[in-house]
Amino acid sequence: VPTADARFVRALADVVGDAHVATDPEITRGYCVDWTGRYVGASPAVVRPSSTAEVAAVIGICREHGVAVVAQGGNTGLVGGGVPLVGELVLSLTRMASVANVDLVAGQVTAQAGSTIAQVQAAAGASSSGLTYAVDLASRASATVGGTIATNAGGLRVVRFGDTRAQLLGIEAVLGDGSVVSHLGGLPRDNTGYDLAGLLAGSEGTLGIVTAARLRLVPVQPFRTTALLGFTSAFTAIDAVVGLRRTAPSIEALELFFRSGLELVCEMAGLQPPLASLPDAYLLVESSGPADPTDELSSAVSALVGVTDAAVTSDGPRRRALWQYRELHTEAISRVGIPHKLDVAIPLRALADFLVEVPHVVASVAPEARVFLFGHAADGNVHVNITGIPVDDLAVDDAVLRSVAERGGSISAEHGIGSAKRKWLHLNRSAAELAAMIAIKRALDPDGILNPNVLLSPVVPRGTVAPRGW
Ligand SMILES: Cc1cc2nc3c(=O)[nH]c(=O)nc-3n(C[C@H](O)[C@H](O)[C@H](O)COP(=O)(O)OP(=O)(O)OC[C@H]3O[C@@H](n4cnc5c(N)ncnc54)[C@H](O)[C@@H]3O)c2cc1C
Repeated sequence: VPTADARFVRALADVVGDAHVATDPEITRGYCVDWTGRYVGASPAVVRPSSTAEVAAVIGICREHGVAVVAQGGNTGLVGGGVPLVGELVLSLTRMASVANVDLVAGQVTAQAGSTIAQVQAAAGASSSGLTYAVDLASRASATVGGTIATNAGGLRVVRFGDTRAQLLGIEAVLGDGSVVSHLGGLPRDNTGYDLAGLLAGSEGTLGIVTAARLRLVPVQPFRTTALLGFTSAFTAIDAVVGLRRTAPSIEALELFFRSGLELVCEMAGLQPPLASLPDAYLLVESSGPADPTDELSSAVSALVGVTDAAVTSDGPRRRALWQYRELHTEAISRVGIPHKLDVAIPLRALADFLVEVPHVVASVAPEARVFLFGHAADGNVHVNITGIPVDDLAVDDAVLRSVAERGGSISAEHGIGSAKRKWLHLNRSAAELAAMIAIKRALDPDGILNPNVLLSPVVPRGTVAPRGW
C-alpha cells in the first residue's frame, strides 16, 4: 500500500474535513477493488469532497504534490478504470448526490455527479411529473451521474433515447489544471463553440472531474409490453432484431441472450426457464407508448420468421419477472469466476456471424474457457464474457478484440477503454486520432494527474507520482 505523505493528507483534510480523508487500509481497500474483482489496486488515501469548490481545491493539492487521482462514483465500471491501479489518490464523489431543479417546463434536471441513476429517475418522476431519465442500466442503484457520463454509459434504452452523451444539456467539471467549467443553463440549442459536455462524455476521468450535469428528461410511457422470444439460432434472432427495429417504432429495449447464460441465471436465482421449450437464442423486447403497444408488438412479432416460442405480457410483475432472465446475467456470470469482460459492438449485418464465430475464436486460444454472450442487440452490442482463464492471461482478449476490429466493430461499445483495453485502442483509432486525443489531454490536464493509467495511458511508473510531460 503506498503511504500517504503526511503534509499531503493534512492539506486534503483542511479542505474536506478530517472525517472525509481515509488512509486506513481497512477503509480504503473497498475503493481499490473493482466490481468484478479482476482489478485490485492500492491507494494512499480516499478523499470525499462535498462541493465543486472542494473538488477544485483537492485537484490543486494533487498538482502541487504531483499526486495522480482517480475519480470514483459507484465503482460499477467494468474495465478497471475507476480503481487506483498505480497508487492514485481516490476522489470519491458519493457525498455530492443532490438532484435538484426538476424543470417540468423544459423537461430537465440538474444532478450532482455522485447521484445514482436510480436517484435521478426517482427525482425526475416525483410528484407524478410524467417525466423520467432515459438512461437505465442494471447497475442503476449504484452507478452515478458522473460515472455514467465519464464512461458515456449506454444501457437498456439506447435504441429509443440514445446514450448518456445524448442526454447532456450542460456540465460542470473541474479540469486537470484545477479550473472549474460550469455550463448548466440547459439550452437545447446552444452552438457557442466546443461542446465540453460532449467531450467529457466518455473521457473516463482523464480530462476533468465531473461535478454536476444538466440532463434531459423524457416523458414516462404509461403503457408497456414485454415479449420474450425464443429462436433456434443467432441468425434467426438477429434477423428478428432487424425486422423489429423496422416494424415496431414503440420498441424501447431489444436484448439478446443465449441458453447457456439463461441456465446460469436459473441456477443462481432458483428460477424456472421462462418458456415451455429451451431454445438456443432469446430476444427480450420491450415496447412502450402513450397507448397500449401490445397490438403493434404482437403483429411485428407474428411477422418474424424463426420464433420457436414466445411469452408476451403487459402485466407489471410478469414483465419484471421476464426482465430478470436478462438483468441477472452479469451477476450470475461473476459467480462462475472472475470473468474477462469484453464489451464490443459489431455492425448489425455482421453480428450473427460474430456470435457464432466467437466461441470458436476463444476455444482456439483457450479450449478450457467458457463463453457467455448477451447484450443490447438493437445496437449491435455484445458482452463477451469469458470465464475459466487466468485473470492476467490476455491471449483470449487479444484474439476476440482483433476479430471484432476485423469485422469493422468497436472494442468498446459502452464500458469504455479503462485500463483493460488500452493496449488495443489502436485497433479502432488511427495515429492521427490518437494524436488529437493526446493533444486534448495535454491541454486540459497539463500535469497528467487525472486517471493516468487508463485510455491513452503511456507507460506509467508505479507509485503515486503522475507522469509529467503528456
Ligand atoms: C450489473 C451491472 C450492469 C451494468 N450494465 C451496464 C449497461 O447496461 N450499460 C453500460 O454502459 N454500463 C453498464 N455497466 C457498467 C457501469 O455500471 C457503467 O460503466 C457506469 O457508467 C459506471 O458508473 P459508476 O458511477 O459506477 O462509475 P465508476 O465505476 O466509479 O467509474 C467509472 C469510470 O468513470 C470515471 N468517473 C467516475 N466518476 C467520475 C466523475 N465524477 N468525473 C470524472 N470521471 C469519473 C472513473 O474514473 C472511471 O474511469 C454495468 C455494471 C454492472 C455491475
